[in-house]
Amino acid sequence: MFDTLSDRLSGIFTKLRGKGRLTDADIDATAREIRLALLEADVALPVVKGFITNVKERARGAEVSQALNPAQQIIKIVNEELVAVLGGEWRRLQFAKQPPTVIMLAGLQGSGKTTLAGKLARWLKAQGHQPMLVAADLQRPNAVGQLQVLGGRAGVEVYAPEPGNGVGDPVQVAKSSIEHARRTARDVVIVDTAGRLGVDTEMMQQAADIRDAVDPDEVIFVIDAMVGQDAVRTAEAFRDGVGITGVVLSKLDGDARGGAALSVRQVTGQPILFASTGEKLEDFDVFHPDRMASRILG
Ligand code: GDP
Repeated sequence: MFDTLSDRLSGIFTKLRGKGRLTDADIDATAREIRLALLEADVALPVVKGFITNVKERARGAEVSQALNPAQQIIKIVNEELVAVLGGEWRRLQFAKQPPTVIMLAGLQGSGKTTLAGKLARWLKAQGHQPMLVAADLQRPNAVGQLQVLGGRAGVEVYAPEPGNGVGDPVQVAKSSIEHARRTARDVVIVDTAGRLGVDTEMMQQAADIRDAVDPDEVIFVIDAMVGQDAVRTAEAFRDGVGITGVVLSKLDGDARGGAALSVRQVTGQPILFASTGEKLEDFDVFHPDRMASRILG
C-alpha cells in the first residue's frame, strides 16, 4: 500500500534538496507535483484540494528555520497535513455506560466485515472484555458459518439464527441477541450485517432497521482500501443511509494506491478506528494516523 505515492513524494522532496531558500515559484511547482501524486493515488479531489491549499499556505508562511532546510520543512508540513487528513489522534471505542456496548458493522459485501468481527472480538477479549458475535448477515451464503469459524478461533460465542432466534430475519436476530447478551452478562455485542456488491436501497434499509433494533454505541463502516475512487461514493452512501460513527480500513496489506485510506476520514467526517492488514485474526491493530503518515513518507 502507498508504494507509488511514497516513491513519488520522495522524488519530489529530493528535487528540493540543496536549495537554499524556496521561492513562491518553487512552492507552487512542488504543490503541483504533490497534487498530481495524490490524484494518481486515487485520493478524492476535494481532499486533495484542501491538502494542497494548506501545504501552500503553510510553506509560504513558514519562518526561515535554522534547524530545517527547505526540503525538510516541506516534508514536515506534508507530514503534519497527512496526519490531519488521517484524523489526528486515534479515537477509542465508545463504550456504553450500561452494558452491553453494541457495535454494529456495515459495509459492502466483501469489504471484510465478517473477518473484522472476528478480529475485533479477539482484540476485545484480550483487553478483558466478554464479547459476543451476532450473525445478522443472512444474505451471503455461509456468512453465518464463517462467523462461527472465526468465533471458534477467537474463543468467542456466536449468536446465530436458529428456531426461536428469528430464522431468516436479521432484524429479529439482532434484536434478540441483545437480550441474550444481557442474560449471559456479555459486555460487548458485535453485530455483523449483510452487504451487497453495490449500494442498494434495500440493503441500506435493512442496515437502518438493524440499527434501530439494537441502538448501537458504534456503527463501524468497513471499507476495503483496495477500492479506489468508488470508496468515496460508498462511504457517503453509508454515512447518509445508516449514519456511521467510525471507520475501519481493511486490506491495508494490499498493493492498492491508498486513496480510500486518505479520503475516508474527511468524506465521512468520522475517525478511522482500526486497520485490518491480512486474513488472520491477529492482522489487526488500532489506527494511528501519525504512524500511517510516517509510512507514506517512508
Ligand atoms: P464481508 O463480505 O464484508 O463479510 O467480507 P469478508 O470478511 O468475508 O472478507 C472478504 C474476503 O476478504 C475474505 O476472503 C477475507 O479473508 C478477505 N479479507 C478480509 N480482511 C482482509 C484483510 O485485511 N486483508 C486481506 N488480504 N484480506 C482480507
